[in-house]
Amino acid sequence: MTGKTRGVAIIGHPVSHSLSPQMHQAAFDALELDYCYLPFDLFPKDLKKGVLALKLLGFRGFNVTVPHKTKIVPLLDQISREASLIGAVNTVLIEKGKLKGFNTDGPGFIESLKREWHYSVHKKHVVILGAGGAAKAVAAQICLEKAASLGIVNRTVSKGEMLKKQLQKSFPSIKIAAFPSKGEALKDFIRQSDLLINATSLGLHPGDPSPCPPDYFFKGLKVVDLIYNPPMTAFLRGAGKKGCQTLNGLSMLLYQGALAFKIWTGEMPPVRLMAGTLR
Ligand code: NDP
Repeated sequence: MTGKTRGVAIIGHPVSHSLSPQMHQAAFDALELDYCYLPFDLFPKDLKKGVLALKLLGFRGFNVTVPHKTKIVPLLDQISREASLIGAVNTVLIEKGKLKGFNTDGPGFIESLKREWHYSVHKKHVVILGAGGAAKAVAAQICLEKAASLGIVNRTVSKGEMLKKQLQKSFPSIKIAAFPSKGEALKDFIRQSDLLINATSLGLHPGDPSPCPPDYFFKGLKVVDLIYNPPMTAFLRGAGKKGCQTLNGLSMLLYQGALAFKIWTGEMPPVRLMAGTLR
C-alpha cells in the first residue's frame, strides 16, 4: 500500500462469508492497481453513518450486501435505471463527492448465461422461483433484455403478485404471470418455458429440498440455481437427472463482481483470474 492507495469496501451484516474481498483484491493486484478492498460488518442502525464515513475517508466505492441493498437507496445522489427499477443497489461509486448507485446482479446473471452457454433470454420464455432481492434484480434484467414471457413463482404468493404488477407496469409488452409454488397451471407454464431459475434461498443449507417438484423438469429446459455454495443443490440434481443443462450461481457472482470492478477502476477486469480466485 502507498499514501495514494484507494479504498474499496463491502458493507453488509454479516459480511464474513463474502468472497468479494479475495476476488477483488486479486484483481487489483494482478493489474497493479493501487486499491485495497476491505469488508465492513455494519449494523443496520449505523448504515447512514457508515456510508458517510466511507465518503469522508475518500473511498472510491463499495459493494452493498444483505440487509442494506434497499435501505441505501435514499442515501445516494444518483442511481442507475436497473437499480431504480428494483429499488436496490449492490455497487456504489463515489465520484467528486457524489454517491452513484448501480445494481450489477441482474447484468451479472445475463453475462453469466452469455459466457457459459452463449445464451440470451431475448424472446425466451423464462420462469423464476423467488421474489426476494436477487429474484427482483434478475427478473427486471430479464425484462430489460426483452424476454417473451416471465413466470414468477413464490411461496408467499402476494410478494410474487406484487413483483409481477411492478414489472408489468414498466414492461407492458411482456407476458408476466405470478404462480404459487405448485399446481397444474405452473407445471403447464414451465412445460412451455426455455429457462428455469431458482432465486430462492432454498438449497443454501445441507438437506434442503428442491423448490421445484422433479416432474416439472424436462429435457430441453435450461436450469440455473443462483446458489453457488453448495455448488450442487437438490434443484440442480433433479434437473440434471432429467437431462437438463444446468448452471450454479458462481458465474453470476463472478460477473456481477467484474462489472463492479469496471465501474470503480474503468479498467477491463481480469475475469479468468477472478474466476480462479473464486474457485
Ligand atoms: P431474500 O431473503 O431477499 O429472498 C429469499 C427468497 O427465497 C424469497 O422469495 C423467499 O420466499 C424464498 N424462500 C426462502 N425460504 C424458502 C423456503 N423454505 N421455501 C420456499 N421459498 C423460500 O434473499 P436474496 O434474494 O437476497 O437471495 C436469494 C438467493 O440468491 C440466496 O440463496 C443467495 O445466496 C442467492 N444469491 C446469489 C447471488 C449470486 O451472485 N450468485 C447474488 C445474490 C443472491 P418468501 O417471499 O415466501 O419468503
